[in-house]
Amino acid sequence: MPPLALSRRGMLSAAAGVSLIAAQNQAQAAEAEALPPEPPVSPRLPTDHGDLPSFKYSFSSSHKKVNEGGWAREATVTEFPASKALAAVNMHLDAGGCRELHWHALAAEWAFMLSGHARTTVIDPDGNAETNEFGPGDVWYFPRGYGHSIQGLGPDGCEFMLVFDDGAFSEFGTFSVTDWLAHTPAEVLAKNLGVPVSAFANIPDHERYIFQGSVPAPLPLEPPAGSLVSAPETHRYPLLAQRPIEVAGGTVRIVSSKEFPISTTMTGVIEDINPGAVRELHWHPHADEWQYYVSGQGRMTVFGSSARAVTWDYRAGDVGYVPRGYGHYIENTGSEPLRVLVVLNSGVYGDISISDWLARNPAKLVAEHFNLPLDVVARFPKRKAIIA
Ligand code: MN
Ligand code: MN
Repeated sequence: MPPLALSRRGMLSAAAGVSLIAAQNQAQAAEAEALPPEPPVSPRLPTDHGDLPSFKYSFSSSHKKVNEGGWAREATVTEFPASKALAAVNMHLDAGGCRELHWHALAAEWAFMLSGHARTTVIDPDGNAETNEFGPGDVWYFPRGYGHSIQGLGPDGCEFMLVFDDGAFSEFGTFSVTDWLAHTPAEVLAKNLGVPVSAFANIPDHERYIFQGSVPAPLPLEPPAGSLVSAPETHRYPLLAQRPIEVAGGTVRIVSSKEFPISTTMTGVIEDINPGAVRELHWHPHADEWQYYVSGQGRMTVFGSSARAVTWDYRAGDVGYVPRGYGHYIENTGSEPLRVLVVLNSGVYGDISISDWLARNPAKLVAEHFNLPLDVVARFPKRKAIIA
């Protein structure tokens, strides 16, 4: 309730001889009812200790850039200060909606298709170009600086998550073709592209970013004869089609440069964690970790050395982050499976897990660390649990 209404109600009540305090209480109660509910705040948990930044961000709290043809919302280091090494854009394109031709000077682009279908065309510095189509669970990787475009396909367009291996990739880092041509004299364009100056009279005078295009015709099954410069290294990997690693508490799919050779700077992981299970205590020696909570609900605790630890609750649409080398684990706190999309800024996947680490040290040494009887240590897992 606006303050003006409150004071007017107070004045009227006083004039009517009603207790001013009672009127104010009434007004405050009405005000409390009218206010939206408090935003969710992670409770200060027993595991929280010391000063660590927030490792949680919610896409639902970010501003959507809406254009005809689609929308986009960012989680860069500006919106989510902890995410220094990796950043993301959640994007929707309508059928025919175009994310225009562009490149990223500062970062490679890794993407996961959440729903629907899209077509991309990417070109490398050797002139190899590839046009691909992507459906739910598919991944693309465009090395830093490669020119690319994305278009939504029928019937419903698509939604995907783009992840970049630089938290500050966005500002002054994305170069769009309409922006460039809008700032190039028509005489130069005419000379460069071999058509009259007048041909450029009506081109856009600003960056379009996303615009509504027409739904493209189906692709030919094979590239036309004579169209390939050389056999391109493919930019598409169907991650959900991969046979997962099955462990006690769920499943894991990994796409690193081993499975997807062009993805030299990033690795993607789909972790499906069963209700009650935990992605075990572990760390990544050579990568920062960016997370998107796809479905279900979970709780992550990050250990930052020097008695520092922090716990946050996550649900679908939330983003998490773990700096390189920081210990962490994720619990499924719901009754549904928890799916987390994890992206790391290294093409080589590596983690060290608590179960494996302890199992590969002498049992007596481990027992003495924790004042545990040897027979307790003997019951610890003998190999990496991954999801326990
Ligand atoms: Mn891009
Ligand atoms: Mn991890």
